[in-house]
Amino acid sequence: MRTSTLGLFTLKETPAEAELASHRLMLRAGMIRPVAAGIYTWLPLGLRVLRRVEQAVREEMNRAGAAELLMPAIQPAELWQESNRWTKYGPELLRLTDRHGRLFCFGPTHEEVITDLARREIRSYRELPLTFYQIQTKFRDEIRPRFGVMRAREFVMKDAYSFHVSEASLREGYDRMRDAYHRVFQRLGLEARAVAADSGAIGGRYSHEFHVLAEAGEDRLALSDTGSYAANVELAETRPPEGSRAPARRPLEKVRIGSPVPPGGSPAGGAHIRIELVKSPSGDFHAIALCAGHELNPVKAAHVLGYAEPVSPAEWNGRYPQDAAHLGPLDLPCPLVADHAAAHLADFSAWANAPDQLWQGVNWGRDCPEPPAHDLRLVTNGDPSPDGVGRLRLVRGIEVGHIFQLGTEYSERLHAYFQDESGSEKPLWMGCYGIGVSRIVAAAIEQHHDEWGILWPMPLAPFDVVIAPIGGKTSPRVWETACALETELESQGCQTLLDDRDLRPGSMFADLDLIGIPQRIVVSERGLAENQIEWRDRKSRTTRPLPRERAGAMVLDRMRTSS
Ligand code: ATP
Ligand code: MG
Repeated sequence: MRTSTLGLFTLKETPAEAELASHRLMLRAGMIRPVAAGIYTWLPLGLRVLRRVEQAVREEMNRAGAAELLMPAIQPAELWQESNRWTKYGPELLRLTDRHGRLFCFGPTHEEVITDLARREIRSYRELPLTFYQIQTKFRDEIRPRFGVMRAREFVMKDAYSFHVSEASLREGYDRMRDAYHRVFQRLGLEARAVAADSGAIGGRYSHEFHVLAEAGEDRLALSDTGSYAANVELAETRPPEGSRAPARRPLEKVRIGSPVPPGGSPAGGAHIRIELVKSPSGDFHAIALCAGHELNPVKAAHVLGYAEPVSPAEWNGRYPQDAAHLGPLDLPCPLVADHAAAHLADFSAWANAPDQLWQGVNWGRDCPEPPAHDLRLVTNGDPSPDGVGRLRLVRGIEVGHIFQLGTEYSERLHAYFQDESGSEKPLWMGCYGIGVSRIVAAAIEQHHDEWGILWPMPLAPFDVVIAPIGGKTSPRVWETACALETELESQGCQTLLDDRDLRPGSMFADLDLIGIPQRIVVSERGLAENQIEWRDRKSRTTRPLPRERAGAMVLDRMRTSS
């Protein structure tokens, strides 16, 4: 392939709208272009990378015994009404009406369509287990599309669905998928981790997320230093403090603080308790007591209380006289629960419902009711690992895959039954397995770039090598050598880009560094005078002069050892 036919549209300037390195680099390298918020065109260079991800995913799915199919992007509303998700999925679901006034949606996921297929086609236990997958465009009307293809509205997903006779068979299928996912990320050259996860809106009881580890990740992960525990912080439990609570020693007293302390500022030394507010969909408030320095985990709060919508100070202050930013456990006009660690404190301080008033020497049971205690906070760096060995370390990750054991939830709702060995009708056991194919491209760049551009891991690179002829337009010898090398490499299955733009070396090299092709060969008059070409490794930026005849072997050797 030549740059002149590829359509290489690189940008010199950094696009102002891009916050993340991957977004900036994908725009600058000419991989994608925005069409509307969260909707992109993949240019030829970007598409080559996307296709490599798809291919790796496809091969591993096939190897795991899944069969590829293709479902429609547009789905009838009736199926979503049957599963009860037409309203439940909310505004992320893009709804459409056809010319007859019939309702449809653009699929954000395909549980309904595949379960409909299964109930029509699968009859007997003899046909099970079965796993299907597709690689397809999804649409989710994300409230905040951002970071380019990382959180887009239209994106490419691999989604797989498995059907089983029993929970035991589902578990086996799930484990096989989990292994396949590990292989996908390993062969793409990405550092990824599987973590225990909350199953969220998809439903189901048991799930794992796969994350590419990167500073820019939106998710926080808790990993134990022994490697035996890994969970999304949403899920990571804290261990209740050991031993019994210290007895109350100090008397309760209200003190005035000279200058108002901002909310969140530590008003006094020693143990302090702060209050967070959440509300139910019907507007009931609930207070949660936390140790100062601990953060509320809304997912845990939602599990304990059944809801965890945040409450704005204005909402609270519209109903109660106490200052929302300076609440304490005394004289609270709404129910209170406490995090384990907060419930374990004695002689603590807490706000006395005004910016300049503080309680000191507060004790549960004596000064305010003993609160129900639950695990409600986010784990922090250094917390003991919930599995009892080692300590937790928090890292950031980009969610690139999510697998669920759905159980019989969808098959029961949509009546997808099979006949078991004794002839009775049973609901199918189901699993579902997603990979963010287009998100992986951005995640890979987050993990692999430097100040000059992208550093593609060899298996993801749009090309294995780029040949850069210097003065190729004026020197037939340079041009012919470059073309001969191109032919030689392509005949060996090496994806080769020949840069036939008539650019000065400085700008050509800067562009090639930006697009991140792992190997570069420079052919120049000066080199050829000594029968040499220059080979360069993009990542280490080291060059090596090589005799012309050895260039091809060097490139192929490097390509094969790193993929
Ligand atoms: P997130 O929490 O990031 O919104 P999700 O839990 O909604 O993800 P799933 O429903 O599990 O995602 O979808 C499977 C995979 O699809 C995710 O692991 C992610 O890699 C990818 N994905 C989800 N939403 C988007 C999006 N808006 N843009 C790009 N990829 C996405
Ligand atoms: Mg989502």
